[in-house]
Amino acid sequence: MAEIAPAPRKVFVHTFGCQMNEADSARMVELLGRHAFSRTPYPEDADLILLNTCSIREKAEHKLLSALGRYRAHKARRGTLLAVGGCVAQQEKDRLLARVPYLDFVFGPDNISKLPDMVERAARERFAETGWMASEEYLFPRADPEAARGHTTAFVTAMKGCDNVCSFCIVPHTRGREVSRPRQEILAECAALAEVGVREVTLIGQNVNSYAGGCDFAALLREVAAIPGVARVRFTTSHPHDLSDALIEAFRCEPKVMPHFHLPVQSGSDPVLLRMRRDYTVEAYLKRFDLLRAARPGIAITTDFIVGFPGEAEEDFERSLLLLERARFDNSFSFVYSPRPHTGAARRVGSAPDWSEVPREVAVARLERLQAVQRRISSETLAGELGKTVEVLVEGALEGEEGRRFGRTAENRVVHLDADIARAPAGALLPVRITRAHANSLSGVVAA
Ligand code: SAM
Ligand code: SF4
Repeated sequence: MAEIAPAPRKVFVHTFGCQMNEADSARMVELLGRHAFSRTPYPEDADLILLNTCSIREKAEHKLLSALGRYRAHKARRGTLLAVGGCVAQQEKDRLLARVPYLDFVFGPDNISKLPDMVERAARERFAETGWMASEEYLFPRADPEAARGHTTAFVTAMKGCDNVCSFCIVPHTRGREVSRPRQEILAECAALAEVGVREVTLIGQNVNSYAGGCDFAALLREVAAIPGVARVRFTTSHPHDLSDALIEAFRCEPKVMPHFHLPVQSGSDPVLLRMRRDYTVEAYLKRFDLLRAARPGIAITTDFIVGFPGEAEEDFERSLLLLERARFDNSFSFVYSPRPHTGAARRVGSAPDWSEVPREVAVARLERLQAVQRRISSETLAGELGKTVEVLVEGALEGEEGRRFGRTAENRVVHLDADIARAPAGALLPVRITRAHANSLSGVVAA
């Protein structure tokens, strides 16, 4: 008798947080696709709702709880399975099951490959699957190149986890030790993506420039750049202490490595950096920063700042402003310090005068000041692009705007194009004359 194929089921994925989570969500959908699931953009149609979470700041956890509250109605109406993966799952484990009684299962980042089995198991019991895979046995989920067909850009996982001990950060607790993906696997994935039309590859990992999967990170970048069809290579995110001379050299010599570097500094004050356990001084950071700028003139350097870290005095904060003015970062992501469980800073806050808590209203006011300075610098930088002709990789249509397309410059600046699909098809690298500069993006026309 012929086997009856299982009825197709639908999965809706809600992703919180960083590119690592975006990539994990894509792998989950591809894996479930091999088990008769298809992705739906509508949670009300789903048989399974997956929430892939972030716990880097407390706010991210609150967002998870309010999203779960919204999805509860779908469970009541049609028995939808509700599952939480990612960093909050790893942090909270079965405490999350106890806290959210209508949740079916919880799974940590190392358990993605078991997802099809977990879905079947959820019919019988509620559970938390949050064990770790031994580093030497760790298998990186492989991207399905077919899912990337029609896309111009793709993320490729190069490593996972983090061996640093920054005192504010929960990542080592939720993502475990660093494991680098074997070089051949990365190269094969990039080549398969290039074959289906992907032109820009971004290598990702919590601390990607400490990569050690058979070669160093600079060598990996060069090898990816050499793959036929790959026009642009990017990476994120990096720790300043792994900004090696070899990596700076790759920026000097390899034109396919794009002139954009996200190099989180966190603070412009040495005593704060010391308490953060960042293992560099502002001077050492700027030294590497200047070498990078000299190796690749025009490189766009972006960063992260935390304000209101325990013990941050007004003069410490002002040093962050000074650093911002000195470095003129292309952009920065800045956050109010959020105490996280299992971190050194959360344990020490209030234990000594230099670990005193910064009142929230002080921290929020500092954040606003820092962001105002960044907005001015960013808009001055973007205004400096007016009239230039730059190379743009076209990514697609601008939603809701007939006859307008968008893409990015080599420096990762978003450009809106007055052009139709025939003039600017996805994947095309076009010379674009910049005609307008906005707060966060540029507009332009395709140059003759
Ligand atoms: N690996 C990167 C590095 O070394 O800088 C950072 C990755 S972390 C996932 C992204 C950013 O979140 C950090 O650079 C930091 O600015 C911010 N962040 C991390 N923990 C935080 C906390 N407890 N409170 C506020 N911001 C935090
Ligand atoms: Fe967190 Fe980055 Fe520090 Fe690792 S290097 S602990 S991911 S901030």
